[in-house]
Amino acid sequence: MSALLGPAEIRALATRLGIRPTKALGQNFLHDPNTIRRIVRTAALSAGERVLEIGPGLGSLTLGLLEAGHPVTAVEIDPVLAQALPVTVAERLPDAALSALTVLAADALQIETVPDAPTALVANLPYNVAVPVVLHLLAAVPSLRHGLVMVQSEVADRLVAPPGSRVYGVPSVKAAWFAAATRAGAVPRAVFWPTPNVDSGLVRLARREPPPTIASRQQVFALVDAAFAQRRKTLRAALAGWAGSPSGAEQALRAAGVDPSARGETLDVTVFARLAEHRPTTSA
Ligand code: SAM
Repeated sequence: MSALLGPAEIRALATRLGIRPTKALGQNFLHDPNTIRRIVRTAALSAGERVLEIGPGLGSLTLGLLEAGHPVTAVEIDPVLAQALPVTVAERLPDAALSALTVLAADALQIETVPDAPTALVANLPYNVAVPVVLHLLAAVPSLRHGLVMVQSEVADRLVAPPGSRVYGVPSVKAAWFAAATRAGAVPRAVFWPTPNVDSGLVRLARREPPPTIASRQQVFALVDAAFAQRRKTLRAALAGWAGSPSGAEQALRAAGVDPSARGETLDVTVFARLAEHRPTTSA
């Protein structure tokens, strides 16, 4: 018998735990062992590599990771699911070492440290908070070197978009601060219960050094937020508030070698990082 959860097992487990999946927590559970094996394979983990999984839910992906020999540190906000996970693992993978699974009942957006120093993030993320979760974890968990996350297809497009593309925006630039992001395939709706009304995609993340700058990440991210808050405007106009005045914005842009009539969507993270250094000191 496979340890992985198929449609019948997912429903039986949900019934036993009294779980009625909620949209608010983005609860769409994987019930297709082939997809689970594919995700684990695509994550390209090294032998025995420890994984951080956000939102393990009923344990579909957790079992796939453990079965492939990867210890898991899991963070689940739903206390009923968090409590049930070790029981499910003990039942379905009785040979897995007790030390292979650490479960934290917590909101991934609030955690400041994670035990066990996991080096890979592998998760079927709750879709409504997928981008903030990815950005928060890359900032808060420095041990993470790479990852494979499943998100709504449109969000996958935004995370990997290069400058100049129609969907390039705040998530693209902020993700690029931490990592190179590339698409790693599509996932059909039918592999989830309940069936979501959006398509899903896999995104591969490879940590890299942030661009060189004397500005802090917070300062660069504040600039990125300002540049895209009015994405149709030229940077001279869009950054007037950030710089204190349109002329201050023009001066900062010129000092950083950026055309003041350009739009934010044409700049890559390296340029944002450089531009942030030139914010006029008189502004807040
Ligand atoms: N990994 C499971 C699977 O593939 O079947 C479940 C994935 S489901 C899309 C998202 C999971 O994230 C749910 O179990 C939900 O309770 C959990 N979740 C939602 N918001 C969360 C948060 N802020 N922190 C941690 N877990 C969260």
